[in-house]
Amino acid sequence: MSDPDPSQPDLPLPFPDLAGDLPPLPARMVNEYQYCPRLGYLEWVQSEWAESADTVEGRHAHRRTEKPGGVLPPPEEVEADTLIHARSITLSSNRLGLIARMDLIESDGGAVLPVDYKRGKRPHVAKGAYEPERVQLCVQGMILAEHGYACSEGVLYFAAARERVPVAFDEELRRLTANAIDGLRLIAAGGQIPVPLADRPKCPRCSLVGICLPDEVNYLKHAETPPRPLAVLRDEALPVYVQARSAKVAKSGETLELVRLPRVAIFPR
Ligand code: SF4
Repeated sequence: MSDPDPSQPDLPLPFPDLAGDLPPLPARMVNEYQYCPRLGYLEWVQSEWAESADTVEGRHAHRRTEKPGGVLPPPEEVEADTLIHARSITLSSNRLGLIARMDLIESDGGAVLPVDYKRGKRPHVAKGAYEPERVQLCVQGMILAEHGYACSEGVLYFAAARERVPVAFDEELRRLTANAIDGLRLIAAGGQIPVPLADRPKCPRCSLVGICLPDEVNYLKHAETPPRPLAVLRDEALPVYVQARSAKVAKSGETLELVRLPRVAIFPR
C-alpha cells in the first residue's frame, strides 16, 4: 500500500453502524490482516485454523489471563486514584463494529490501559513491537474509549522476558488501525481471497502456510519460481526424499539439516 499523500488529508468519516446480520470484527483478526491480508481472509471469512508451535506457545503465554478476575468499574467511577486490575474482559461496540477480549485492563491516573499478553521476547524494532500487535492493541483502546473510558495508550507484555512495552495510540497508529479495519471489511465483502505474499519470510512462520500454499499458488499463477522441484536441476546433485513422519527439514546457511524429532505421545483427555 502506498504512503498517504500529505496534500490530501484523511476525511474523518465515522464508521457506519453495524448491520444486524454482520458479526463484529475481533481485534485479533485485525492483527492477522495487518500481518497478511490473505491470512486475515483465511481466518475471518473462511474460518481456517491450524495449530503451530507459535500458536501453542501463545496459548501458554495467555494461560494466566484466561480466567476472569477483578472488576472494571464504569467509566464515571474511574478516578485518579482508582486501582483497576481486571482480567479477561470482553467488550464490543456495535457502532465501531468491533469486539475484543482484553487480557488485562489496568488503571493509570484516571485513565485505563489495555495490556495484551504476547509470547516470546519483545522484538528490537523502532516502535518496540511489530505493527500487527500494535494495531490489535489499538483496537482494544478504541473500544474502551467508545465505552467512555479515557484511554490513550496500552501495553504489550512479552511473557518470556516479562517485559512491558508501552504503545501510544497516536495519530499514526490510529490511522494504520482504521486502514486495517477497513481493508479487512473490504476484502470480506468482496468475497475474493487476496493473492499470497511472494517469497516473504513471514510465510514459513505463518500457521496457515500449509493451507495457503503461497509458493504453490504463486507458481501456478506466474510459473516463475517452482516451489519445491522433485528433481534437482544440477547434474551433480541428488534429490533428497524425507519420508519419516517425525522428520524436520531446515536450512542453515548452505547446509540442509534433516532432524528426526522425538515422537510425542498424545493422551486423550
Ligand atoms: S502463508 Fe504467507 S501468504 Fe499465506 S496467509 Fe500466511 S503469511 Fe499470508
